Amino acid sequence: MKPFPQHFTARLFASFILSVLLVNVRPVEAADDARVKVEMQMRKTWEFKTDGVTFNNEFSGARASDCTRLGKDEYRILIKPENSPVNNSAWFAFQVQAKKKRQITVRVIYEGGTQRYRPKTSHDGYNWEVLTTNLWEFSPKRTELTLKLEVDEQTLWVSAQEIITPEYMHGWYEKVNTQPYIIQSTIGKSIGGRDLESIEINDGAPPNYVFIIGRQHPPEVTGSLGLMKFFETLTVDTPLAEAFRERFRVFVVPMMNPDGVEEGQWRHNLGGVDLNRDWVKFAQPETQAVRDAIELRLKEEGAKAYLFLDFHSTGEDIFYTQPKDAKIFPPGFTDDWFTKLDERFPAYEPKRSGAHNLDSPTSKYWAFEKYGVAAITFEFGDNTDRIFLRQFSMASAEEMMKLLIEAEKKQNPQ
Ligand SMILES: [Zn+2]
Repeated sequence: MKPFPQHFTARLFASFILSVLLVNVRPVEAADDARVKVEMQMRKTWEFKTDGVTFNNEFSGARASDCTRLGKDEYRILIKPENSPVNNSAWFAFQVQAKKKRQITVRVIYEGGTQRYRPKTSHDGYNWEVLTTNLWEFSPKRTELTLKLEVDEQTLWVSAQEIITPEYMHGWYEKVNTQPYIIQSTIGKSIGGRDLESIEINDGAPPNYVFIIGRQHPPEVTGSLGLMKFFETLTVDTPLAEAFRERFRVFVVPMMNPDGVEEGQWRHNLGGVDLNRDWVKFAQPETQAVRDAIELRLKEEGAKAYLFLDFHSTGEDIFYTQPKDAKIFPPGFTDDWFTKLDERFPAYEPKRSGAHNLDSPTSKYWAFEKYGVAAITFEFGDNTDRIFLRQFSMASAEEMMKLLIEAEKKQNPQ
């Protein structure tokens, strides 16, 4: 793509100054306002009467820090992170409409970040398509994305990934919570005062636990897609799932960072902190609440942790585990799990790394250090085929159930 035209520079600078002046720290219904450390994006609608085009960021998961008109049917959207330094995961999401059908050019500029996601569009916020490749292009340094969009009166959603918000999860809870053994609870509040919700499987099994968490990092939508399918597989009416539920309880916090997701943040919570680096300090209410909920369950007499899974997304499918020589419980679980998955997907080679973030204060580190349990960061690629992703999650859940049933039988021989 050509470099940015010279005559826009002055305009860019002027709009940058204006955006700085207009920075609006929106009040949050916070549990404790003093803990909000990020600059909130200004939620608004930008109306350009000359072309009859409007943009807005007034919905859950939106991220658009500023919007300006560059010329006829040409616009610029600035995307700023919540604070910096921040992991380079430049999330964006906005809506656009036009009074009369037209093609517009939108230049998305990432401040302090570069392209990570393939742009997607939707007309309802639920059904998404990757924008056809000839309609988008990145600048050589990937700091700018140019989109060609067909717009009309119908709202067009444009986003980095599918949008899966706390509200979306409420719909999912309703869908899956159809059995008496499924229990939904609120385990605490985020900094922004949002509920931290858990969903649990407890069919009267002894307190043998599998713990699952997700969405510490707001843009990591494929992690959510994997987590949902994984959970659903544990609730089906098959002899395997029934045998599993007779022996195990499952405790899940699918959306650990609801504020970050609502605000379309790139990485952090409203405290400006990467939650998956807070598992030693526990300075954030979100990590505190999840730790406390897990500890509470493991205080019960006879309670035992068997597995800890944390769902994320990254550039490729990869699974961060303990080093090969680590002494984990159940013994050999991780190796056996990957062997089984290799057998089921011979053409597919998920990467595995036991050396990643070894001493970094992540959830995996905490769960392994504290309970000696197999603790795995389950990373799905941003661009992993969504159908395959669900198949792989389902198979992972099935093989996990088989292995844990065997491990539990060894632990408690009849
Ligand atoms: Zn992550």
